[in-house]
Amino acid sequence: MNLEKSATAFEDAKKFMPGGVNSPVRSYFNVDGNPPFISHAKGSHIFDIDGNEFIDYVGSWGPMILGHANPQVVAALKKAVENGTSFGAPTELETQLAKLIQKFYPSMEVMRMVNSGTESTMSALRVARGFTGREKIIKFVGCYHGHSDGLLVAAGSGAATFGEPSSPGVTKGTAQDTICLPYNNISAVEKIFEECGEEIAAVIVEPVAGNMGLVPPKKNFLPGLRKVTEKFGSLLIFDEVMCGFRVSFGGAQEKYKIIPDLTCLGKIVGGGLPCAVYGGREDVMRNVSPDGKIYQAGTLSGNPLAMTAGIETLKILAEDPSLVERIARKTADLADGLKIKAQLANVDVQVPQVGTMFSLFFSQKKIRDYADAISANSEQFKIWFSAMLERGIYLAPSQFETLFVSSEHTKEDFSRTLDAAEEAFQVVGKNF
Ligand SMILES: *Cc1c(COP(=O)(O)O)cnc(C)c1O
Repeated sequence: MNLEKSATAFEDAKKFMPGGVNSPVRSYFNVDGNPPFISHAKGSHIFDIDGNEFIDYVGSWGPMILGHANPQVVAALKKAVENGTSFGAPTELETQLAKLIQKFYPSMEVMRMVNSGTESTMSALRVARGFTGREKIIKFVGCYHGHSDGLLVAAGSGAATFGEPSSPGVTKGTAQDTICLPYNNISAVEKIFEECGEEIAAVIVEPVAGNMGLVPPKKNFLPGLRKVTEKFGSLLIFDEVMCGFRVSFGGAQEKYKIIPDLTCLGKIVGGGLPCAVYGGREDVMRNVSPDGKIYQAGTLSGNPLAMTAGIETLKILAEDPSLVERIARKTADLADGLKIKAQLANVDVQVPQVGTMFSLFFSQKKIRDYADAISANSEQFKIWFSAMLERGIYLAPSQFETLFVSSEHTKEDFSRTLDAAEEAFQVVGKNF
């Protein structure tokens, strides 16, 4: 595969931006090779500046559930752009999107639009702290909630630890208010609540974790979180930025029937433009400025182009409620196919799948938390990733990322993917 132009573009980009990119994982720093520079994308396919065509399972890291350049979304955007791109004043579009969101997420009684998932979780935590008057929060190791200071905290293994910053620039003081616990371990959560429950403002969780690879919740995990937060007057925040509209159109809260106090959405909600939203219980959200004293604002929040892309995307989903099931079935078939191809090559893999999300770990054991995830074989992954890219399959360059299927992925896409996978697993098998 020729990636000459991309290689040149990468060298040029590196002069101006750290790693040549505006978000780290795009630089392919943990796989060998340079990232293809993208020229355009259509449906399930993405094209680079060297003229290579790939079947895309990244989908812009989640948003593109309708595939790239959906005609209805594009047409609406073209029209919207003629009307001006930003006003910093209210439009009817914002209420229109809010109504659509509430249809899917009735628990979001009152909501606020923002520009990124990072902003939505950061703001939801401020609201939780302002509402409860408490300072500490609980997050789970391996869950990613964007890059705000208090959430860039992981922790040691197993036992409860008060957070250590996981990036220089995050102060100890900030990190101290974040308690990190292992995912899927409800007794660790209950124990901490018994110790200092009165100080905990909120528990924030990816109800289906997608940022350590895909890790579904154990049966008792989400109900357990709901129960213990209720008991101690803490808020439960579902960060459904990734799994929203993907594990079910109504997200994990619909699939598992657990109603959080606050919800964060992003990615799909902006239809591929920068948009996210947080919201939930009215008595909590009415404390946000200007109804209340908790400050949060944004020059470009509720941007008319982002609203338009979100509205058109959600309209398409609303008109076709069984779409998510159909994509989920395709995703399950693909996951099964991958398992079979791996078996043929005698390579041990785990291919978890929930709804339209899946991932692939090179591991013998079922992945339940971050410790399991990082025990997966990263050398095998590197070889597999390169072999797949070489064969025209565009995957996330890390096994700790989730892969996404869209409405536009076809039977032919899948048979090409499985043919490539059969060969790629053989390559992995030969090297181990
Ligand atoms: C992507 C993601 C975020 C961050 O969203 P950005 O738009 O990248 O800031 C937060 N939470 C989860 C679960 C995500 O997957």
